[in-house]
Amino acid sequence: MNESDANRVFAHRHLLGIEGLSPLEISLILDRSEVYVTQNRQANKKRHLLSGRTIINLFFEESTRTRTSFDAAAQRMGADVITMNVPTSSVKKGETLIDTAMTLNAMHPDVLVVRHNQSGAVKLLSEKVHSAVINAGDGAHEHPTQALLDALTIRRRKGHLDNLVVAICGDITHSRVARSNIHLLNTMGARVRLIAPRTLIPRGIEALGVEVHHDMRRGLADCDIVMMLRLQKERMQANYFPSIREYFHFFGLDYDKLSAAKPDALIMHPGPMNRGVEIDSEVADDIGRSVIREQVEMGVAVRMAVLELLAANLPPLREAR
Ligand code: ASP
Repeated sequence: MNESDANRVFAHRHLLGIEGLSPLEISLILDRSEVYVTQNRQANKKRHLLSGRTIINLFFEESTRTRTSFDAAAQRMGADVITMNVPTSSVKKGETLIDTAMTLNAMHPDVLVVRHNQSGAVKLLSEKVHSAVINAGDGAHEHPTQALLDALTIRRRKGHLDNLVVAICGDITHSRVARSNIHLLNTMGARVRLIAPRTLIPRGIEALGVEVHHDMRRGLADCDIVMMLRLQKERMQANYFPSIREYFHFFGLDYDKLSAAKPDALIMHPGPMNRGVEIDSEVADDIGRSVIREQVEMGVAVRMAVLELLAANLPPLREAR
C-alpha cells in the first residue's frame, strides 16, 4: 500500500477514539500493524517514513507502557520525539490546557500524543492545535490504541474478530479501555459481555450493544477471550466493594472461574495489573493462556501504524534550505 491508498481509506486528521471508525479503517490499521510486528522482530527496527517530523508526547497523567510504547514507535518511524515531563512543567503552575496548546503550537509539532485525566480534554486540545492528535487515554472515555493493540493480539491468535465472545471483566465504570474495546469489538462483529459488580458498571450500558453479567462463572461461560481490567482506585470517590479479599473472591480471575470459559480462551489485561486483586498471579503468568506480554509487543506496532496513517494526511514536508 502506498501513501495515497492510506490517505483514501483513513481520512482522519486525528485519532481521538474508536467510536465512529469503520470496520475498513480498523482493519487497515491492523493490517499496517502487521508490517511493523515483523519489522520490530528484526535487528534493524528503524524506518524513515517520519523523518523530519516532530512528535510531542504530552502526558498529564501517569503512564509507563503507553508512553514508552509511543516513544519507541515514533523513534522507529524516524521522527524526532519530545516527551513532556508534565509534573515539572508549567501545568503545575496553573497554566491551562489551552495555554499549553498555544505553547505547543509555537513549537510546530506534527503529531501530539496526549493523555489527560479528564474525558474530552484531548478532543478539546485537538481543536486548538495545528497538529494531528492521538488520544493516549482521556479520563474514563477512550484509549483507542489500547483497543487496537488488543484487537491485533486477538486477531493474530484467533485469526478473526467476528463472532468471538469477549468478556470484559472488572471496573467498567472507570475504564476507558473497556469503552474503546466495546466500540471496536462491536464494530468488528464480536459479541461483548461485561462482567462486574453492580457498583462498577454504568447503568444503561446495555444500550451500547453489550450483555451485562454480575456473576463471573455465568458471564465467562464458553467465551473466547477473557479481558481483565484493573481496579482504578485513583478514580474512585467512594467505596465500591467491601474489601479487596471479597472482590477477588467474586470477581478475581483464578483457574476455578476460568474453567467456565472455552479451554482455549485467551487471558488479557491492559496493565498495570493488581496481582491478587483482579487477577491471580499464576493465571496472569500462564504462558499457555495469557497473552499479556504479547499485548505490550503489539502496542508498539499499532502505534507505528497509527503514526504512519496520520502522517500520510499531514501537509507534505518541504526540503529545508
Ligand atoms: N493502562 C490503561 C489505561 O491507561 C489501563 C489502566 O490504567 O488500568 O487506561
